[in-house]
Amino acid sequence: MNYKRAIEELKRERKAVVLAHNYQVLQVQEVADFVGDSLELARLSAGVHAEIIVFAGVYFMAETAKILNPQKLVLLPEKDARCPMADMVDASKVRELRSMYPDAAFVAYVNTNADVKAEVDIVCTSANAVKVVNSLPQRRVVFLPDQNLAHWVSLNTNKEIIPYPGYCYVHRDFDPEAVARLKEENPDAEVIVHPESRPEVVKMADRVFSTSGMIKYVGQSPSKKFIVVTEEGLLERLRKLYPQKQILSPGMKGVCTDMKKISLRSVYLSLKELKYEVKVPEEIAQRARRAIEKMLEIT
Ligand code: SF4
Repeated sequence: MNYKRAIEELKRERKAVVLAHNYQVLQVQEVADFVGDSLELARLSAGVHAEIIVFAGVYFMAETAKILNPQKLVLLPEKDARCPMADMVDASKVRELRSMYPDAAFVAYVNTNADVKAEVDIVCTSANAVKVVNSLPQRRVVFLPDQNLAHWVSLNTNKEIIPYPGYCYVHRDFDPEAVARLKEENPDAEVIVHPESRPEVVKMADRVFSTSGMIKYVGQSPSKKFIVVTEEGLLERLRKLYPQKQILSPGMKGVCTDMKKISLRSVYLSLKELKYEVKVPEEIAQRARRAIEKMLEIT
């Protein structure tokens, strides 16, 4: 079956758009109307003209699109595609921390579920985390759930950052020794690292970027060779966008197995059978929307 053609037909018939995260496999990126990082896709979904949004990503991303588009049907092609880091924290943990740090502002990375977004003051992405934290009047900030992104933010702000002990296993598992070795073997390469990586790896970076920042930077930089420390889907996208540049991965493939659960077939079935619908209780959605919109206003 020609899934690509069938997906295009169903998109037209159903007035649907497909949004895909940068970590999706290339075939899925190719049928998407938009490909981007969490911030770009959240922004896009807020203004998209369609009746149905198929979100090729993990659950919290589709949920964010639903929160911003309560009147639209939002579908996640694989119901078990979830972000393990987002599932490391829930609303009760945030409330517990609120009672421990009553004077602190609470910032949640967009990689959280709706119940957590509903409990915090503002949401951020890796692209705007420093800007969001610096915009807050409080001196202390509880940052959750990613301890590595929290560490990166703490290096770039005068505020006191209280990190939550969550992490992204994909970025945490990049081996600092492998990055150091590759750097030594390729002294002419620029090292660009995602801030979800461990501090020892971030320390070796020439530049630290979100995925959209990486795409922009590799396109603009005069360098011909890059060591890129992030999920493999983004590396594939860079190789496709810039075939004249050499994109090296540090010794191992960083693969998010949840992102890779989505295939062309599951996007097709999602559009055909209208599954799996993402629902967010309105009381939670309202409070989560306020925290997301606050971020969109700042950035
Ligand atoms: S790459 Fe990491 S942060 Fe992104 S969805 Fe996978 S586990 Fe979550």
